[in-house]
Amino acid sequence: MHALYPGSFDPLTLGHLDLIERSSRLFAGVTVAVLQNPSKNPTFPLEQRLGQIRAATSHLPTVQVASFDGLTVDFARSCGAAVILRGLRALSDFEFELQIAHTNKTLAPAIETLFLATAVQHSFLSSSVVKEVARFGGAVEHMVPRGVAGDLARLFNCSTPPC
Ligand code: ADP
Repeated sequence: MHALYPGSFDPLTLGHLDLIERSSRLFAGVTVAVLQNPSKNPTFPLEQRLGQIRAATSHLPTVQVASFDGLTVDFARSCGAAVILRGLRALSDFEFELQIAHTNKTLAPAIETLFLATAVQHSFLSSSVVKEVARFGGAVEHMVPRGVAGDLARLFNCSTPPC
């Protein structure tokens, strides 16, 4: 069975990566898909986020990396995924995630949303927290893959605007 793990991944964190590694042991294949959503005004361009994920998952042969726009269920169908994976960090994620899962179920009854509980050690992690810490010069090496830490340093450690 194939699973789709959609998200913004702006940028990829160790929490995301943990979920990808665990799901790759559960499914024959996993597609990690970056949503192209210009209205979200991403910090990292789409191509850079795809590169971050490809580099961090290169040890996982059954994991593919793609981008998509439009409805998640349409993309799930197009890549043959019967399952949409989402991570749950805390109760605060639950209400929104449940709303999306129910909506997707009405759009595509054959596709199941599966929630994986975040690893305890990554349950405080979010892409926005990582960016906040990096912006003010804090260490992020324990929060993101090595390549992403480098990208964050290049983004925020420059002395000229708009950093
Ligand atoms: P979105 O904008 O779609 O929420 P994110 O990149 O923020 O995109 O998250 C993508 C998915 O990864 C979501 O299911 C989210 O709950 C999950 N996720 C976010 N942070 C973590 C984490 N620290 N550990 C595991 N899963 C996470």
